[in-house]
Amino acid sequence: MTGYNAKEVEAKWQTRWEREGVFRVGDIDPDKPVYYCLEMLPYPSGSLHMGHVRNYSIGDVVARYRAMCGEQVMHVIGWDAFGLPAENAAIRHNEEPGEWTRRNIATMRGQFKRLGLSYDWSREIATCEPEFYRWNQWFFLRMLEQGIAYRAQRLLNWCADCATVLANEQVVSGRCWRCEGPVIRREFEQWFLRTTDYADELLDELDRLDGWPERVRRMQRNWIGRSEGVQVRFQVEGADLALDVFTTRIDTIYGATYLALAAEHPAARGLPQDGERRDAVQSFVDAQLEKNLEDRFAEGAEKQGVFTGRYAINPFSGEKIPIWIANFVLMDVGTGTIMSVPAHDQRDFDFATAFGLEIRPVIHPAGSDPVTAKTPMQATCEPGVLHASGEYDGLESEEACLRMAADAEARGFGRATVTYRLKDWGISRQRYWGTPIPVIHCEDCGAVGVPDDELPVELPANVPLGEPGGSPLARVEEFVKADCPKCGKAARRETDTMDTFVDSSWYYFRYLDPHNAEAPFDSAQQAGWMPVDLYIGGIEHASMHLIYTRFWTKVMRDLGLVEFGEPIKRLFTQGMVTKDGFKMSKSKGNVVDPDEMIERYGADTTRLFCLFASPPERDLEWNEAGVEGCARFLHRIWRLFDRVAEQLPPPGSAMPEVDGVALALRRKTHRTIQRVGTDIGVRLHLNTGVSAVMELINTIAPLVDGGERSAGERAALREAFETTAKILSPFAPHFCEELWSKLGGEDFVVRCAWPQVDEALLTEDSVTLVIQVNGKLRARVQLPRDADQDAALTAARKDSNVAAYLEGTTLRRVVHVPNKLLNLVVQ
Ligand SMILES: [Zn+2]
Ligand SMILES: [Zn+2]
Repeated sequence: MTGYNAKEVEAKWQTRWEREGVFRVGDIDPDKPVYYCLEMLPYPSGSLHMGHVRNYSIGDVVARYRAMCGEQVMHVIGWDAFGLPAENAAIRHNEEPGEWTRRNIATMRGQFKRLGLSYDWSREIATCEPEFYRWNQWFFLRMLEQGIAYRAQRLLNWCADCATVLANEQVVSGRCWRCEGPVIRREFEQWFLRTTDYADELLDELDRLDGWPERVRRMQRNWIGRSEGVQVRFQVEGADLALDVFTTRIDTIYGATYLALAAEHPAARGLPQDGERRDAVQSFVDAQLEKNLEDRFAEGAEKQGVFTGRYAINPFSGEKIPIWIANFVLMDVGTGTIMSVPAHDQRDFDFATAFGLEIRPVIHPAGSDPVTAKTPMQATCEPGVLHASGEYDGLESEEACLRMAADAEARGFGRATVTYRLKDWGISRQRYWGTPIPVIHCEDCGAVGVPDDELPVELPANVPLGEPGGSPLARVEEFVKADCPKCGKAARRETDTMDTFVDSSWYYFRYLDPHNAEAPFDSAQQAGWMPVDLYIGGIEHASMHLIYTRFWTKVMRDLGLVEFGEPIKRLFTQGMVTKDGFKMSKSKGNVVDPDEMIERYGADTTRLFCLFASPPERDLEWNEAGVEGCARFLHRIWRLFDRVAEQLPPPGSAMPEVDGVALALRRKTHRTIQRVGTDIGVRLHLNTGVSAVMELINTIAPLVDGGERSAGERAALREAFETTAKILSPFAPHFCEELWSKLGGEDFVVRCAWPQVDEALLTEDSVTLVIQVNGKLRARVQLPRDADQDAALTAARKDSNVAAYLEGTTLRRVVHVPNKLLNLVVQ
């Protein structure tokens, strides 16, 4: 046997795994447990980065471990293949987006294979293939029938750099989630999905998702943003116009000193009556609409506004208050109009201070006197007791809210209501590289769904890209021209494509039945595998993908396709890979290329480092010395094995009675089996799993280096090496296959059962007690250190040899030397 050559070993086992179809997932055996191990599918950007390697290695360890535990494991990968980068690259290089994408997929598939990931490649999907996206269209048509998909004119987020509309979830801190460019508001006619119909369920079920990190659940709760309050109507003085206001603090309404409208509010431009004010309002609104959302709404952004010259009537007090247009009011939160109570809301306070508006307290803490004389220095937001509030004076906030809501309803100017920050999901994109929305617009019939038997509506090739203004598909005459499916009249095909988050909302259902031409998936296949047992991906998907996919599943449930509403039992969000303290990125120049690492150290070492260097939920700082350490670890196992290989008993030999160092090694071996099993299967502490194996190797080493070895020692060594090959194999699979085959193991190590723990060997601190009967050695038993005489006696009697000598005798005397000897004197 020669030195360990990672490249040869890895190529050899990858070929064999593939040839033997080791990772093929067959039909479900109903008598065996199933485990669906899923990692978020990658975008085929060109090549894998270290973050990918880490993400997919974590999943691979779990998948391999579960399979060794006798479970049927679903472990598949695919490609989130539609989207902007392909289209932009195509524009730059004058290439078809499909070509660019498929080339990248080929590259990355090769990288996945070189990493030895245990995917069933026969189930691989790419979302840009008609075989997949026809089902996006099919789902859309079902949603159209159910009224879940609808078309409406809305103010939407527009990224000029990406030249497309963005969903609210795709605007991060006021900027485009993809290009970080500025985002402004524009009005568009768009297709929406009614995510808000599911808002309550999406929120309530978070409490039951106890396999999800609390952080993600909190982010989703915030995103859904349910708030209970009252909608109140303010009449505009001298106009046939009323403004609806939503407030969670109706108890403060007597402290409202102005109304503030969003710049986008449909009434904003029409409010001023004289020309000068009209000009001022026009230019303010225009300026706001062209502004990046971040500059308008970020915490601490400068407060800007303009007075409209008009007044509204407070329906409770009858008081006249000025109407302003203000930069901090969002059109899509509540009604786009707020009643401003500067004394009890900090943003209202800041605005009032900036524009010299009245600040009037109406709430004071219970048990203190109302302070009305002086102007407060800041807003007090806590509930309390009302004053200066007419008939409601002296009420506690909570009771006042209930009474005032009821009164508003009774008097016909308001009602209790619930609002959500979550909005319906706008899925139209004015881009080429996505799923065509399967609709035909007819002058007479309106928007008509494409009949199912005409699916897929395929993306045409050779579409001119990169020309300004609107959807590229609109420039393809043959695509646009279509007959109305209802009346047969010449009509126009929809030219927007779907948001790519549609693809990722259900792709993992397709893995279960990837080539089904009759349905998105077979319900029996799906029922056997779903829900997903473990889903691994980055925290950045907490509020987009992970909300959409929960929504999509609930829709599928209501369509009768699945029987559950929550698709993912356990969610795991891994940390980032950093170098020199920063996330790896081209601009920082700190990127470590996985290919280079595989070339230099091998896939096993690269995987091992990613898994060992940090707990998986934390960030991982790249460190070349650490990688070298992992390489040395594998070489060390190899060398140790090499030195004793010929002395090991043949595979399958019975384990003799052992003591001394051999026993100590056996104990270490079994403790390690147990630790690694728990670290992978329960805690997902993969780093401590690797260090447990390292400790085992440290225990092996002196035995290998020692001189003559007893039969027991040789047997214990075999057991330790066999165990290493098995329990390290989820981390370093090629290396362990090779070790296993050198050990004379049958089949692939990946198909071996996870080793059984011998409970008797787990006793942390046990001793061997010599058992004598009338002074003659009859047995050795394992006992916890310092076990008392009763325990020793019980253990001795359980031993069959001792029992035979005791049969038919009477016990006269017991001599017990703790931790050493038990002599039974019998007659
Ligand atoms: Zn953008
Ligand atoms: Zn028609």
